[in-house]
Amino acid sequence: MLAVTILGNNSALPAFDRHPTAQVVTLNEHLFLVDCGEGTQIQIAKYRIRRSRIQKIFISHLHGDHYFGLVGLITTMGLLGRENDLHVYGPAELEPIIQLQLKAGGNHLPFKLQFYTLHDGMTITEDKFEITCFKVFHRIECYGFVFREVRAPRRINPDKIKLYSIPTPYYDWLRWGHDFVSESGEVIANELVTEPGSGSKSYAYAADTLFERSIACRVKGVDLLYHETTYLHDLAEKATKRFHSTAVQAATIAKEAGVHRLIIGHFSSKYEKLDPFEEEAREIFPSTDLALEGVTYRV
Ligand SMILES: [Zn+2]
Ligand SMILES: [Zn+2]
Repeated sequence: MLAVTILGNNSALPAFDRHPTAQVVTLNEHLFLVDCGEGTQIQIAKYRIRRSRIQKIFISHLHGDHYFGLVGLITTMGLLGRENDLHVYGPAELEPIIQLQLKAGGNHLPFKLQFYTLHDGMTITEDKFEITCFKVFHRIECYGFVFREVRAPRRINPDKIKLYSIPTPYYDWLRWGHDFVSESGEVIANELVTEPGSGSKSYAYAADTLFERSIACRVKGVDLLYHETTYLHDLAEKATKRFHSTAVQAATIAKEAGVHRLIIGHFSSKYEKLDPFEEEAREIFPSTDLALEGVTYRV
């Protein structure tokens, strides 16, 4: 099962009972928190998300509306006696910022907090899922993520397999996600010679970004895409200046990427009513819905 629950769908300022960005991706028994704007832990409690089951947190970039809730959430996890490791993925500066906040407060966490620095193309592969990170186009370093369920056996890439001269008897081994080790001990990583199998569901989060057609290549064919729409299209110029997108632009990316369905969020606090976003996007990409707080979108 792959699904995303929206906890915050607004941009920088909280307004009209909408909160800064945060969402929870559920992939079978795994929970991933994507961005953690201020108030995220309150939204987690409100929508009864099991905090203790969150094992990885992904922070797209260091604008406050995407991570000001992180130290609060981590501290609460500590107070509640969490024991499981927590893995946090974000830009390099995230670790010193959080560590300083914890240290200054004299907090000693009862669990291991592990940080990882994001980079374009970074892939996290586990038995049943694969998460890939891609760079988007924002005022500061910013990343999107593709979550992919790995249920079906992986597909061999015939060109790549020739390139690495892997013998046929190993194909099955590769289809089930293992790396190949040659007689000389050279390791060929599985992702280099295979692709996710068909039937694997996928969700992409495109973070905060300028309208940039190359994003369509990074999210090509996903089942569900979240794309930001800070403004309506009459403010396209302002959107570009601020490295954000409009509803028309989000829908254009969805169409060009051939995704199955689009949800839009990160609304500017200047808009009270959200329907115009949906109407504008649907003219270009009919399978568009607003990303509404508290709603779970199943893939
Ligand atoms: Zn933002
Ligand atoms: Zn931003």
